[in-house]
Amino acid sequence: MAEGRVQEVVVRKSRAARLALAVSALVCLSGRTELWRTVRLGLVGLVAGFILLVISGKMKTMAGELVAIWIVDGYLLGHTMVLRRRDKPVFLAGAFVGILLANLVGDETLYVASSFTFAGVMETCAAALMLPAVKSARELVKPMVFVQFVLGACVVAPLLSGVVAVLLLQGIFTSHPFSSFSNWVISDALGFLIFTPVTLVMLSGEWRTLLNPASRVKSALLLAFIVITTAVIFLQTSYGEVYWMLPPLALLAFHAELSTVLLGTLLFISIAVPLTIQGTGPLWFFAFATMQDRILALQLFTVAALSIVLPITVLQTQRNALLSALAEGNRRFRNLAERSEEVVIELSADGCFQYVSPRATSVLGYAPNMLLGTSLLGLVHGDDRDELARVLEHAATNGTEESVEYRLRRAAGAYLWVRSFIAVMPSGVPGGQVALAFTVRDVDTHVVSEQKRLAEQQELRDMAFVDSLTGLRNRRYLDNRVKELLGSQARGTSARAVAVLFADVDYFKNYNDEYGHQAGDECLKLVGRCIATVIRDLDLLARYGGEEFVVLLENCDHEQAVLTAELIRAAIESLELDHRGSPFGVVTLSIGVAQSEIWRTVDATELFELADSALYVAKRLGRNRVGRVQDTVTTESSSRTNGIDVVGGQIAQARR
Ligand code: GH3
Ligand code: MG
Ligand code: MG
Repeated sequence: MAEGRVQEVVVRKSRAARLALAVSALVCLSGRTELWRTVRLGLVGLVAGFILLVISGKMKTMAGELVAIWIVDGYLLGHTMVLRRRDKPVFLAGAFVGILLANLVGDETLYVASSFTFAGVMETCAAALMLPAVKSARELVKPMVFVQFVLGACVVAPLLSGVVAVLLLQGIFTSHPFSSFSNWVISDALGFLIFTPVTLVMLSGEWRTLLNPASRVKSALLLAFIVITTAVIFLQTSYGEVYWMLPPLALLAFHAELSTVLLGTLLFISIAVPLTIQGTGPLWFFAFATMQDRILALQLFTVAALSIVLPITVLQTQRNALLSALAEGNRRFRNLAERSEEVVIELSADGCFQYVSPRATSVLGYAPNMLLGTSLLGLVHGDDRDELARVLEHAATNGTEESVEYRLRRAAGAYLWVRSFIAVMPSGVPGGQVALAFTVRDVDTHVVSEQKRLAEQQELRDMAFVDSLTGLRNRRYLDNRVKELLGSQARGTSARAVAVLFADVDYFKNYNDEYGHQAGDECLKLVGRCIATVIRDLDLLARYGGEEFVVLLENCDHEQAVLTAELIRAAIESLELDHRGSPFGVVTLSIGVAQSEIWRTVDATELFELADSALYVAKRLGRNRVGRVQDTVTTESSSRTNGIDVVGGQIAQARR
């Protein structure tokens, strides 16, 4: 039996050990730190609730039945707001226990203690439910949130808990139930109004602004002023003017940070309440029936004072936030404008400089101040002014973004190529004048090198079409021109007549032999120049190769073509350039003429061949003459008759 019992105990012990092990393993697994955090939070609520209630109890004994300001719930609300959602119940439960314990320690019956505790914690929960999620006093005093806070935490929640308290504790309060109720409501409302933001200031770290080196001396002086004025007003007994407290509090609200204002209010209360309770101050000038009524008057004054001070603080905080946002925006804009490689400009609608970034000094040589108020167009190169004015006008009227390149006069006088981007800046004021955002980028090097490149390109293109010896157009140019002509004809433009003159220097080989190649070159130049003087401006003269020249005559009938050829021939002959190697004794030309009335139907190669044939005939018949081919083409019949004759009386036959 005994053995069996021992075994049973051993089994039980080992089970208990296993259970303990399992629990501790579970605790370890579920994260010890998290569990400890929760426990700690409950303890904080408990301890804080206990201590604050003990302090309040002390104040209560000082003041009579109820305290002037109920700190506990204001603090609980502030602390609950900064907690995570799941931590809130733990904290409030801890606080509930703390407050209950303090009430019990304060010799209250369990019923009274639980009623007080319930009314208070319920009030905090109701206030918390009516508030949006805010984690700092700065967020709390944003106008919309603040209105919610005042209505929810400072009106509805205290009214609710007041009703609950009066109902639960009827008969326990010695004074009139309404007096207890109003005292309860006001002291709770004041508690929220002051201690919720104070708690947020402490927990969010906003209290550090009190130490801000830029404002700490000013804050200290303002707080000292509050302390001195409160002390003076609440130490005397001859005057009833409690409202002399208002100017110092308003001064504080206008000039101090939120945390300083809250601290100032706290200082006022912590001096005014004890002094009033101890029998000095303006409230003793009036004959109140009870101490509670006197405290109620002080509460009402504090509510009135706070209703002036807090809205001012709210607006000041908002204004300061706006000012710092504005300053930040300005700083950012200036940084960007000043570090940009472009000059940033704001132009008025009439084109005058309203803002010029400092970059203007390095890019244009003007200090920004020199430009302000002057006209942009005044600095623009005369040739570019109209274009820029047009672009500005276009951007301003259509609201489009534009980009333009133009020359701007630098302070030193020289012009600089710049590129500007222009955009309309709508006026911030309704109906205000539109301004233009303008940037100026130095593109001088780029534009100048681009112009040089284009010029070189043009030169190369020209060279490709120019005969280097005579400076006349070359064969390539002629071919292109013929292609162009054919193209325009094919597109159905007028069927113009075209003639080709094929000119060849006679006995030129002999010329070279007689006078040398150099002299031959000079001779070719002279011949080219001479032909150019005879033909019309619209005619095209080209060196075809060697000592051959071609003249392309547009809109020219056959007779005119032959006449021009004859004029050329005669002009060369009359130059009387010595030519010992020629039977004529002077340099002469033979010219073949071919003409087509309806160019469209004639193949260019064929026309050139006809001209060449005419030249061949002219050569064969003795040189220094014009050979001509008349090409008669009718589109209707497509029949063609080629005839070749030679000006100067002789008739030649076509080679074909
Ligand atoms: P024809 O009357 O039959 O035309 O006799 P030609 O001697 O002019 O005939 P050919 O075509 O045989 O000779 C042309 C000569 O022109 C050959 C060449 O020496 C000369 N020539 C061609 N191009 C140039 C040039 O650029 N400069 C010089 N100086 N001579 C050239
Ligand atoms: Mg030749
Ligand atoms: Mg020749």
